[in-house]
Amino acid sequence: MRESLLVDQYGRRLNYLRLSVTDRCNFRCYYCMPEEGIDFAKRSQLLSFDEMYRLSALFVGLGVDKIRITGGEPFVRNGIIPFLDKLSKLDGLNEIVITSNGTLTTQHQAALKNMGISKINISLDSLNAERFHYITRRDSFDTVYNGIMQMLDNGFDIKLNCVVAENKNIEDIIPFIELTKDHQIAVRFLEEMPFNGTETSGYTGWDHTKIYEHIAAHYNRINKIISEANSTSVNYQIASYKGSFGIIPSFSRTFCGTCNRIRLSATGELRTCLYGAPAANLRDLIRSGASGEELEQIILNAVAKRERDGFAAEAASRQSIHTSMSVLGG
Ligand code: SAM
Ligand code: SF4
Repeated sequence: MRESLLVDQYGRRLNYLRLSVTDRCNFRCYYCMPEEGIDFAKRSQLLSFDEMYRLSALFVGLGVDKIRITGGEPFVRNGIIPFLDKLSKLDGLNEIVITSNGTLTTQHQAALKNMGISKINISLDSLNAERFHYITRRDSFDTVYNGIMQMLDNGFDIKLNCVVAENKNIEDIIPFIELTKDHQIAVRFLEEMPFNGTETSGYTGWDHTKIYEHIAAHYNRINKIISEANSTSVNYQIASYKGSFGIIPSFSRTFCGTCNRIRLSATGELRTCLYGAPAANLRDLIRSGASGEELEQIILNAVAKRERDGFAAEAASRQSIHTSMSVLGG
């Protein structure tokens, strides 16, 4: 296997690009943006698909072998399917995975399968239609839930992302675990982060320990399962259940030591840490005529200077840490 050239000052190699293809979304999840939305970028400020492809190829040349397509909601951007098709043929790129809210995903199942894309993370914070509506500010529970079940039947590898918060969805934690009894599905519980597009912190104290203890109080036999080295989640399975569950300490940030991710926002901002300021704007550099070698050097320099962890990156950043996750590309 090729070794990535993207190595930071602490020796971590980055081989996983999270590419946000839009900042727009058809949901308004309370933890991501206010009801009225955010100040969305003008269309001309978004990277074009050609620019995204050129940059993806550059990252792959530097050693990235996995790209996650995210947003905003990736499937609201016109032209996403032909772009994914082209990307899926990029030499050296082993895996494309997607994070989506699941409203529009089902209709593209056949196309995704044909491109070899089968791993999809879907955000689902409640198994109750009313709470789902309250959380997302949209009445789409049936569409999303039925779509997930259909995709599971069609052989997709589905993970559910569930942001846990007081007064929102604590009563859903155990039903989510019960969903793993008969379905080969991985549910991952996330701590709420401050990236909600408003100046409030959001975090309600449901950290990874509290989430685990809540689950442990309901089950006698929870087995820890082996996770990939760069996994952000600590993963478990209830004995005899088909699926699994994981907990992602996204607010506590205990996984930074093995982080292999780099992020490109829909407007071209390059981030070497979710909690840090952008290191460069690759869109501006492309549009001012930067050569491939110049872009590569800028990316390598940004990676070399990467901070030790999310706390150091946050301290070094002067920008607001309340920027919506749909802008950062979660
Ligand atoms: N729209 C897609 C979706 O919701 O899956 C992709 C983009 S969304 C920004 C990516 C992930 O970020 C989702 O799983 C969402 O739950 C998570 N997310 C957004 N804001 C968050 C926050 N403030 N704290 C924790 N997770 C957050
Ligand atoms: Fe949209 Fe995803 Fe943000 Fe929810 S979390 S508002 S689905 S981008």
